[in-house]
Amino acid sequence: MFNIVIFGAPGSGKGTQSEKIIERYGMYHISTGEVLRDQIARGTKLGELANSYISQGHLIPDEVMLRVLANELDSHPDEVKKGVIFDGFPRTIPQAEALAQMLNERNTKVHAVVGLEVDDDELMDRMIKRGQATGRADDKPDTIRERLNVYHSQTQPLKKFYKDLGKYHSIPGEGDVDTVFGHIAGKLDNLPRS
Ligand code: AMP
Repeated sequence: MFNIVIFGAPGSGKGTQSEKIIERYGMYHISTGEVLRDQIARGTKLGELANSYISQGHLIPDEVMLRVLANELDSHPDEVKKGVIFDGFPRTIPQAEALAQMLNERNTKVHAVVGLEVDDDELMDRMIKRGQATGRADDKPDTIRERLNVYHSQTQPLKKFYKDLGKYHSIPGEGDVDTVFGHIAGKLDNLPRS
């Protein structure tokens, strides 16, 4: 059992690196952004609510996200036992505190946080290109700017939160995909797994 949070600004490569981590270590992937985009595509009530925040570049309220996460954990109990990579969660201090509690109730914890460090200019560039390539609705310049503001004000404080717990591993995130993954594997290969 090995639970990882992949942490970083929007566009820092969390989704891409999650795939590589899963290939090597075989955990279960929970991407809250993907869960929400799926709800939007299916036209559910949650999707409608999520869309009203996502389209503005804002975070969905914590109490909604905690229900989303609890539901993901509860609906995949066997996968969760093998370990999870949390991608896009937590994004606020209250979410991080709730995650610790939810995992504690399941007799486990966050083992490590992998923080991808990428400059804002590079993030902006990557997300504009991703928007052009995929049509992802929140990858437009104004929304990207707001998402970066939200990241710096609400999400970045989590770095200190996890550093204080001795769990934060800083990874240079600006190289190519395999180079960045090499740095991640260098850390994860050496982590104790209890
Ligand atoms: P992502 O795919 O992780 O970049 O998430 C896309 C969008 O979904 C974010 O910009 C937020 O609006 C929303 N979202 C995803 N995860 C969370 C979360 N943990 N808390 C609040 N909002 C979230």
